[in-house]
Amino acid sequence: MADRTESESRKLLGRLRDTMAEQHAGQERLDRITHLTADSMGTEVCSIYLFRDDETLELCASEGLKAEAVHQTRMKLGEGLVGRVARTGQLMNTADAPSQRGFRYMPETGEEAYSSFLGVPIQRLGEKLGVLVVQSKEAREFTADEVYALEVVAMVLAEMTELGAFVGEGAALTARHTRPALLRGTTGQEGTAEGHVWLHEPRVVVTNLVTDDPVRENERLCAAVETLRVSVDELLAGAADPEQVQVLQAYRMFANSKGWMRRMEEDITRGLSAEAAVEKEQSSARARMNQVTDAYLRERLQDLDDLSNRLLRILTGQGKETGADMPSDPILIARNIGPGELLEYGRGLKGIVLEEGSVGSHAAIVARALAIPLVVHAGRITNEALNGDHVMIDGDQGIVHLRPDDTVVSAFRDKMAMQAQALERYASIRDIPCVAACGARVELHMNAGLMADLPSLESSGAEGVGLFRTELQFLVRNQMPRRTELAGLYRRVLDSAKGRRVVFRTLDIGSDKVLPYMKPNDEPNPALGWRAIRVGLDKPGVLRMQLQALLRAAEGGPLTVMFPFVAQYDEYRQARAEMDKALERERILGHPIPSKLSVGAMLETPSLAFAPRQFFQEVEFLSIGGNDLKQFFFAADRENERVRRRYDTLNVSFLTFLEGIVERCRETKTDLSFCGEDAGRPIEAVCLAAIGLRTLSMRPASIGPVKHLLMRTNLEELRSVIATAKDQGHQSVRPAVMAFLSDRA
Ligand code: PEP
Ligand code: MG
Repeated sequence: MADRTESESRKLLGRLRDTMAEQHAGQERLDRITHLTADSMGTEVCSIYLFRDDETLELCASEGLKAEAVHQTRMKLGEGLVGRVARTGQLMNTADAPSQRGFRYMPETGEEAYSSFLGVPIQRLGEKLGVLVVQSKEAREFTADEVYALEVVAMVLAEMTELGAFVGEGAALTARHTRPALLRGTTGQEGTAEGHVWLHEPRVVVTNLVTDDPVRENERLCAAVETLRVSVDELLAGAADPEQVQVLQAYRMFANSKGWMRRMEEDITRGLSAEAAVEKEQSSARARMNQVTDAYLRERLQDLDDLSNRLLRILTGQGKETGADMPSDPILIARNIGPGELLEYGRGLKGIVLEEGSVGSHAAIVARALAIPLVVHAGRITNEALNGDHVMIDGDQGIVHLRPDDTVVSAFRDKMAMQAQALERYASIRDIPCVAACGARVELHMNAGLMADLPSLESSGAEGVGLFRTELQFLVRNQMPRRTELAGLYRRVLDSAKGRRVVFRTLDIGSDKVLPYMKPNDEPNPALGWRAIRVGLDKPGVLRMQLQALLRAAEGGPLTVMFPFVAQYDEYRQARAEMDKALERERILGHPIPSKLSVGAMLETPSLAFAPRQFFQEVEFLSIGGNDLKQFFFAADRENERVRRRYDTLNVSFLTFLEGIVERCRETKTDLSFCGEDAGRPIEAVCLAAIGLRTLSMRPASIGPVKHLLMRTNLEELRSVIATAKDQGHQSVRPAVMAFLSDRA
């Protein structure tokens, strides 16, 4: 055995391929593989252990161990030598297995007679599937070439498991991708959905793993790598964004890496097909990725992973277009997705699950605008899901049920039915004004940002658009929109609003909202950096163009405009002066000017709450941007999952602060509204109304639940509950508010 040659490992692979090609039931295939591996390697034992569940390995086939032990012998992850190989993902090669730490004697297998042990993990693209073991009586360590041969068999086994080759009658095995899986992520957009998986980037399926013509396979590999290099160079030539350039340069580095190429060529010489060689490299990159903690290194390994995918697509000819039909109830699954791509899918999607993404990402904003349930940070969903799989997503809890079993399906459908009933209840109050139980009138408006949002004005019963985020139109384009294009768009928004008030917020870019066609600024703290009105005042070209587009869109009718992120009086004055200049220009050019122009500001920084009285008198209205205001008030980044939820909106300090703003606006007779996410959360919304906020703007889907609760709540009573809880020294008034509301439920 020690003088095993490359052609011998090819021979083993050749025999393996022939076995796989024969028509056998799953179990028989496994048995044959153990037989021929033991035979080829000259060992007495060859065994296959596969995961039964995340923690348990089961002996699924064996040549040499007692037949009765198959499907009976099980071990926990980390238990015995096999469990250790599975846990660490590292091979073990020893001449004296019984003396190894953790060795566990399993009498039912009859393995006491075997001294040497070679165990390699069976894993695919970093995912652990089981362990492949050979054992022999002769006490010796296995040679590097033998180790290689066994690793390759393990890889073929992993691929075959993936393809479901061991499933079938008598197999006592289920393919991994047929088992139910539950993945926990984070809520991106509430709501539940049931449908079938549609992968944004379908997985490449490799069916030919073994070759007996290495020369040809090497030629295929070289040609594919050349195509890849050319395409990366082309992309690089056209790339402007420094981050994209950085990624592409990393791609180029890998594509030209001699080590990468050499390892793949060696694998081919030893009997793997070009595709299998690429995947073997990709697998070891993923295994390393799971171990490194350094963010930079992880990113580079991620680049290598992407590059391998591209190479596999070139080799297999499998593009994004697989010929599969999109299901009628698609749930989109992607590692990440841009807002433009998401918009292309549009409202046809039932739900979205992203492996990465973040709650405040542009994709999340678009998903919210389209009211599509979204779960972000959903573990390894792109590995787990296959096109067409049945999937249920719970956007409220951030949970994904993939291939759910019957109990989950019925519980989930019950939840959906309850939600549907609630929707019916909301529909029945849609067209009546929102009046609280104490008689107080509360106006409910909706937030929007895309043309696609406007139909929700009718369906939600919103009284107007309290916040139109104009930057979304800029974000979903590849170049700066022109003034005429914008004017046309704003006109369509006004037309769709049919006379209801629309509050256009001028461009709020910077921080997490970076326009693809603008040079990004490298800032240490973008949320506290050059953003929103700060950009508009320092580089007024775009602001002026936008103001002109808005004035033209009004066509002589009423117009409402609001400036984002105003931190001090002077910024408002300067922005207002831009508006006055724009008006003057329109007048001189002979264009009609709005019959009523209302100009206001967002209150998103604590500083503005303490601005001079004159500011409150001068501004026509204020809208509290609670998302930003809260992050600055508590010094807790709204994008950072670790701190985002740490401070409660119903925290006494924050409510007291908001009451101060309400009071200043009351004194100065300044119209005040609230348009952050909290306005759409029923409990928070009733508290905001109780402290005096009588105009709330929220996602359209929230209007029903908020109205329903408001109409049952006596705001005067709630106000005194809040006051009492404050007096009693509580940190948050939430428990007291919940107790009060549940008494009345
Ligand atoms: C806010 O900050 O509350 C707000 C409405 O603006 P955005 O979420 O777009 O920053
Ligand atoms: Mg904001």
